[in-house]
Amino acid sequence: MVGTSLTEVKCSKCKNVYESDVIDHIDLSEDRDMIKSLKTGKANRTQCPKCKKVMYLSRSIVVNFEPENRIVVFDPSAQTKEAKDEFIEDYRSVTSYNETLSEVGEETEFIVISKLDKLKEMLDEYVKARK
Ligand SMILES: [Zn+2]
Repeated sequence: MVGTSLTEVKCSKCKNVYESDVIDHIDLSEDRDMIKSLKTGKANRTQCPKCKKVMYLSRSIVVNFEPENRIVVFDPSAQTKEAKDEFIEDYRSVTSYNETLSEVGEETEFIVISKLDKLKEMLDEYVKARK
């Protein structure tokens, strides 16, 4: 299931500020139709209600490579090691919260990537393995 939340977006054309549904989380086993837009970096599409300008938001998306035990955080802005470590730190603090989660956490490969090419590569492999 695609996980979404509401966020404030500022239109790059008319500067109008509006609220938009954005995708936070994608589970590939259920949301295969999202793969194409993920690969092109267009998963988060939004349109200004005032001037109709379409924008693609570059924000972090958690991609669950079900049924592989692999979670990928794609964040175009997480380009430094520090930024990536911060995600891993957050993930650890969440998973260490209870026993079940920490077991899952240990079995799961958690990766943070900032380059779309890398995400594309992983998605292609995923699709290829499941034909
Ligand atoms: Zn606008």
